[in-house]
Amino acid sequence: MYDFCVIGGGIVGVATAHELLSRNPGASVVLVEKADRLGAHQTGHNSGVIHSGIYYEPDSLKARLCRAGARWTTEFAREHGIEHRICGKLLVATDAVEHERMLALHERSITNGVRVELLDAAELRRREPHVTGLGALFVPGTGIVDYRAITEALAGRVRALGGTVVLDAPVTAITETDEHVTVESTASTAGPARRWTARTLVVCAGLQADRMARLAGLDIGLRIVPFRGEYYQLPPERADLVNTLIYPIPDPSLPFLGVHLSPTVDGALTVGPNAVLGLSREGYRKGSVDLRDLRDILTFPGMRRVARTHLRTGARELRNSLFKRGYLAECRKYCPELTVGDLRPRPAGIRAQAVLPDGTLVHDFLIERTPRSIHVLNAPSPAATSAVPIARYIVDRLRTPPTPNSPDSEQD
Ligand SMILES: Cc1cc2nc3c(=O)[nH]c(=O)nc-3n(C[C@H](O)[C@H](O)[C@H](O)COP(=O)(O)OP(=O)(O)OC[C@H]3O[C@@H](n4cnc5c(N)ncnc54)[C@H](O)[C@@H]3O)c2cc1C
Repeated sequence: MYDFCVIGGGIVGVATAHELLSRNPGASVVLVEKADRLGAHQTGHNSGVIHSGIYYEPDSLKARLCRAGARWTTEFAREHGIEHRICGKLLVATDAVEHERMLALHERSITNGVRVELLDAAELRRREPHVTGLGALFVPGTGIVDYRAITEALAGRVRALGGTVVLDAPVTAITETDEHVTVESTASTAGPARRWTARTLVVCAGLQADRMARLAGLDIGLRIVPFRGEYYQLPPERADLVNTLIYPIPDPSLPFLGVHLSPTVDGALTVGPNAVLGLSREGYRKGSVDLRDLRDILTFPGMRRVARTHLRTGARELRNSLFKRGYLAECRKYCPELTVGDLRPRPAGIRAQAVLPDGTLVHDFLIERTPRSIHVLNAPSPAATSAVPIARYIVDRLRTPPTPNSPDSEQD
């Protein structure tokens, strides 16, 4: 019998295992991951940005946890010699609508307590000669890091504190009783059938979060919908085109930030990601289709509503995914000298986006619990930045018993 079992070896699961061990010295913790390595999905396929927390609804979990996460990530990377750089970020307004939205974002940054500077077109040009716009918001605290390296370093601490990390173990059954939770993984080519029993279970399963919740008997209406984030990268001789991260001004009705230019810690300059509906939760190749995932999308009423509400955006994203010139046009709004030849292939990522039955794309982090388990149901960007504060939040929640009359409906 373990004290705690954590499902999911992404950054949120590993941070949670670490937090459980740090806060409960001597406790037994097992982390169960289905892939053959940690950070195999979202954690290992992202932009590597340490977000500052400017975008988010004040008082939302994202706003509260991202700022603390940015500080923690930077300090942890420094202490552990993990490559990172606080290069700052510019959000560039290219037309009147974006300019209005930029001013609203400026207000929100102040409310969220994040230091920003408003720049006019001339100052933007002076700082970034290859970027044009009507003006920009400069966020000096934004940085870049490798989140897989952070995850590996945290996992090293989990092992050092006596925790067990099990790879190649896809969880296929969860049974909760009044006394404990049993987690089972059936035999596969990667390993034998196994079973773990724990007093408390934490599930951080990213793209499979809804399926794991249903497996545990949690009655949730939402579904995880995969949104592909396709990247390109510039040729090495163009990698120093910009000094900072360059972002567009996002559409506030969508949870995605738009195609941006991001330097990476390994010296590349990436372009992306877009946000196009995926037909496979874990199929990274373009055109990947998984029949179970496809059926889940087609039979979910919330998805039909998303399609109706965001028809134009969805069609534009699909067109830009299929035709490089459309994708290029998005970046040329703020960096006009980019050419089709500059866009070299780079692996895609896939976002786990929770969608409610009424078609709402859930913006905030979403966490639900049963008497003996807690499920992270929506942990999109900036959850890599915010992983440790999310873990602290989860461990705090475990200390408070669920409300007697609604043990499975506590929601943030
Ligand atoms: C394209 C893209 C760009 C992004 N950019 C940024 C960024 O710049 N900055 C930022 O802060 N965030 C960013 N994010 C978001 C960030 O990557 C995620 O929010 C974060 O990685 C979520 O971590 P996680 O541990 O919840 O999920 P994951 O990393 O997806 O981990 C979930 C784990 O659960 C495991 N699992 C699932 N089912 C089972 C099962 N049955 N049994 C055992 N294990 C299971 C999976 O194999 C996986 O390893 C981006 C995401 C994407 C996709």
